[in-house]
Amino acid sequence: MTELILTVDDLRVRYGRVEAVRGVTFEAAPGSLVTLVGANGAGKSSIINAVSGMVRPRGGRITFEGRDITRTPAHRLVASGLVQVPEGRQILGTLTVEENLQLGSPGRRGIAEVYQRFPVLAERRRLQAGSLSGGEQQMLAIGRALVTRPRLILLDEPSMGLAPRVVDEVFGVIGEIRASGTTVVLVEQNARRALRAADHGYVLAGGEIVHSGPAAELLDDDRVVQAYLGVE
Ligand code: ATP
Repeated sequence: MTELILTVDDLRVRYGRVEAVRGVTFEAAPGSLVTLVGANGAGKSSIINAVSGMVRPRGGRITFEGRDITRTPAHRLVASGLVQVPEGRQILGTLTVEENLQLGSPGRRGIAEVYQRFPVLAERRRLQAGSLSGGEQQMLAIGRALVTRPRLILLDEPSMGLAPRVVDEVFGVIGEIRASGTTVVLVEQNARRALRAADHGYVLAGGEIVHSGPAAELLDDDRVVQAYLGVE
């Protein structure tokens, strides 16, 4: 059996009285692209925020490369190869593109690799990040995570608010990241699109997984299509 890079077992997240995640179990094989899809409020962000150390789980166990990381803080996880691109990008608009990348990691090598992958960021390195288009800002947010040279990257709604053509570009980049051997966990409301890009999918509703399987099978499953994907 291949060793799993990520396992999440019976994860629970609460905010006061709100039970956002109610016993979620999923896993990712090394080099795979796994997606968590579901409507607004289904618990997707809470799950990946728990994995990346941004939110403290109420229960359950998370392992990364065989080590228990259930209560490891985010900065230590970044140093060990697990990084998240947060929802809403959260780049610093008054800093330059290059300064934003340096916040990810000051290492020159990682930054040079990101410029190679995103020539548009190299061209705009001295510009204020806030002057970039929405798609460029998303590339910058992904680039800032990649400078840490992660083995697992968590992406929270990378297509949010972007024009269809730009969404295509972002999914192209996600495919390249996966092709380079980095494992990807992708959270998306754009379920059809995410499942098309993924190896394995988990459909969430009300903080629980209601369907899971190879992404191609979920795309073919009438119950999933009718309830979560809608007509094309
Ligand atoms: P979205 O696409 O809107 O981010 P989501 O599927 O990622 O949705 P979560 O953001 O994880 O879902 O939210 C799950 C539930 O937890 C929702 O009912 C939400 O209102 C609630 N919730 C999320 N964050 C908090 C918080 N900081 N305090 C209180 N409730 C929260």
